[in-house]
Amino acid sequence: MDFNDFVLFVRNLYDSNEFIPLHAPVFINNEKKYLEECIDSTFVSSIGKFVHQFEDLTLDYTGSKYAIATVNGTAALHIALLICGVNPEDEVITQPITFISTVNAIIYCNAKPIFIDIENSTLGLSPEKLESFLSQNTKLDNNGFCINKQTGRRIKACVPMHTFGFPCKIDQIAEICLKYNIELIEDSAESLGSFFKDKHTATFGRVGIISYNGNKVITTGGGGMIITNDASLAKKAKHLTTQAKVPHPWNYVHDNIGYNYRLPNINAALGCAQMESLSEIIKNKRLIAKSYSNFFSNSDIRFINEPLGSIANYWLNAIILKDRKERDRFLEFTNKNNVMTRPVWHLISKLEMFKKCQTGDLTNSEWLENRIVNIPSSVNFKSL
Ligand SMILES: *Cc1c(COP(=O)(O)O)cnc(C)c1O
Repeated sequence: MDFNDFVLFVRNLYDSNEFIPLHAPVFINNEKKYLEECIDSTFVSSIGKFVHQFEDLTLDYTGSKYAIATVNGTAALHIALLICGVNPEDEVITQPITFISTVNAIIYCNAKPIFIDIENSTLGLSPEKLESFLSQNTKLDNNGFCINKQTGRRIKACVPMHTFGFPCKIDQIAEICLKYNIELIEDSAESLGSFFKDKHTATFGRVGIISYNGNKVITTGGGGMIITNDASLAKKAKHLTTQAKVPHPWNYVHDNIGYNYRLPNINAALGCAQMESLSEIIKNKRLIAKSYSNFFSNSDIRFINEPLGSIANYWLNAIILKDRKERDRFLEFTNKNNVMTRPVWHLISKLEMFKKCQTGDLTNSEWLENRIVNIPSSVNFKSL
């Protein structure tokens, strides 16, 4: 494929001769109005009505029972792991192709990550590889705990990630986790608006998290959400994110090591306005994905379409190039021509801090690491 055809296609899609970013936020509703209202109220910090409103809007949209807003998605992950009982020296399974936060949150708990392969089709954790790793490397002890035979440690949780908003095979993963008595925590940082078999991602595990960073589907500047159907976990999450302060009319008593992780009201105000645009944003992003899909259909480049049975938010559109050399040629050409494209993250299992961690067979991840490229994915209400 002539890469210049791609550049021209993107310029036409976004009706622009300027620099075209990977993902820019859009503010088309009541953002300014709510921010002004929030400032006028003086409640711009960790208490205020927008935080609760934002949480309620999230419940309505995702169908979850409880939602706790946090300062960012990384903090949400940290708390999600803690409330699921991840203790120091426990082990937590995740995928090597994810944003670094997923793994850092495991380390914040002084737990040990184990890396299991992703799938070629969904780009998410592979249920087959997960099952084969667990069946070969673990045993259930007398308490019914899943013990890693190599290390003697307990495998406490599994954190699959819905890569770029494409739902992974979360039902199969949930079944395997249940069988091995492993807590399922969904890193849905990228998948607000993505559904697996009509159920919102982040609602399949015991806990799920969402991110509202500036580059995500919608943004609160910085922000995150913990969602769960479990009342007692929700209570713990709220407690730990608010300095573990025991509710009292005037006294300061804290009954645990807590965190200053509550989302400020001013960020939530932005979030409430963004939630009003969410459906429109997803609709538009899906149209953009459709155009890309058509464009690439007759080329030697594979465009990643949503897996069968799921609805993706198409947060970041992704393509797969023939090999590393072709990928680099594509990245060079497009970026030189002011069309922003980016390679997928490096395998986290290869980074200095994590290279001694246990891994399963990572054939797919290694293959994909050299080939995936993200292409411009912002919404465009102008021409679509
Ligand atoms: C963005 C992201 C996070 C972290 O969210 P922040 O709000 O930036 O802290 C975690 N996991 C994944 C997969 C992400 O893409």
